[in-house]
Amino acid sequence: MKEIKSNINIIGGGLIGAATAYSLSRLGNEVVLLEQKPKFDHKKISDKRTTAISEGTKNFLKEINIWNEIGKHAEPIKKIKIIDRNLSNKIYFDNQRRNSNLGYIVKNEFILDALYKKLQRQKNFKVFNNVSIKDIFYEGNRIVTKQNNFNVNTNLLLASDGKNSSIRKIFRTPTYNKDYNKKAIVINFYHSKSHQNTAYEFFFKNGPLAILPMQRDKNNFQSSIVWTNTNEFINSLISLDDNKIKSIINEKIKGSIGEIKKIITKQTFPLRAHLNSKFFENRTIYIGDSAHSFHPIAGQGWNLGMQDLESLYNLVKKYNSLGIELGDEMFCKEFQKNNFFKAYRLYQITDKVDSVFKLDNTIFNNARFSALNLIEKSKKLKNQISDFAMGVNL
Ligand SMILES: Cc1cc2nc3c(=O)[nH]c(=O)nc-3n(C[C@H](O)[C@H](O)[C@H](O)COP(=O)(O)OP(=O)(O)OC[C@H]3O[C@@H](n4cnc5c(N)ncnc54)[C@H](O)[C@@H]3O)c2cc1C
Repeated sequence: MKEIKSNINIIGGGLIGAATAYSLSRLGNEVVLLEQKPKFDHKKISDKRTTAISEGTKNFLKEINIWNEIGKHAEPIKKIKIIDRNLSNKIYFDNQRRNSNLGYIVKNEFILDALYKKLQRQKNFKVFNNVSIKDIFYEGNRIVTKQNNFNVNTNLLLASDGKNSSIRKIFRTPTYNKDYNKKAIVINFYHSKSHQNTAYEFFFKNGPLAILPMQRDKNNFQSSIVWTNTNEFINSLISLDDNKIKSIINEKIKGSIGEIKKIITKQTFPLRAHLNSKFFENRTIYIGDSAHSFHPIAGQGWNLGMQDLESLYNLVKKYNSLGIELGDEMFCKEFQKNNFFKAYRLYQITDKVDSVFKLDNTIFNNARFSALNLIEKSKKLKNQISDFAMGVNL
């Protein structure tokens, strides 16, 4: 059986795996990436979602010298408007305090395209597609993954194979799980009025509806909606023709960006959250959605994965500079110490925010409207919340 040696083996080349491969290969490590899908092709990508990139993630993308390529496709968010049930209960955020934006909206395909283009130029990087992992075993201080017709033998295995991680199944790492029994529909569309770089989040009884400002497509104003609702509602919504979908959404978004003119893409995603009971096994680290996944209410899943990556990047840099081999017990435990609590906190926050906005009776509604009113009037609270959205000072 053919054997490939490297010092890092990454399983899964999605938004986190590709960023991990690129940043760690830049540090001079020999990196192998195994991806179950065929070779990445920008024109064939099925994920039509956008990602709200926080200011914190942007700073790390700048550090690893890829923000220029991603940033040219990014639309800045300069204002966020949160509306609870109706327009009289609202909070508006802007960011006059810092010389930066509240976030950036980019299509996932552009992030992946930028990463794979950079990776092609890394001489110490190899990618294998259409791969499935059959087994994992140890040889002394090395960890080996067995595929159909080759093995990869490394110091450190990184599992970035998403929320249904097969590496997690092989190790039987326990998880805490939450199934919201809901779906999100993501619709990209053209509309009649400029979004003015404003992101909206409308909270309804059955879940939030976010409008995310995208870059213009030629002369067309463009945005993306992420609408969470019951499985039954989303299943019936996606089965309607586009004119009916347009009129249902126009009624909900109340002219904030004019009328929807044309639907470009629509996709649905089941909503589940999970947290691994630990973020490592022997010589193995879970990173991104293989470690944690959240309700998309705050648009923070990838951003938190990128925080995992930034901490891993600094750890690898430290070990590389000391000439110590990667992946020993201290290495894995330090990663856990730096990242587990942040994920636990976000898991709790996203879950609780979702529960609070779902409550729908006079007492809870009045309590929530008063709280929103209080936040709207408090500069300090607003600054703390916008720092959270921006991924700074967390
Ligand atoms: C509707 C929605 C909206 C969202 N919006 C935002 C947002 O605005 N901002 C934000 O920060 N986050 C957002 N998120 C979360 C974000 O999309 C995820 O956190 C992010 O995509 C996770 O990336 P990942 O690389 O860890 O996992 P994935 O994207 O799931 O990638 C996993 C990769 O591993 C591969 N793979 C799986 N199993 C194997 C195997 N056995 N062998 C080899 N390869 C394998 C897969 O093919 C895939 O390429 C949103 C999520 C949803 C559902």
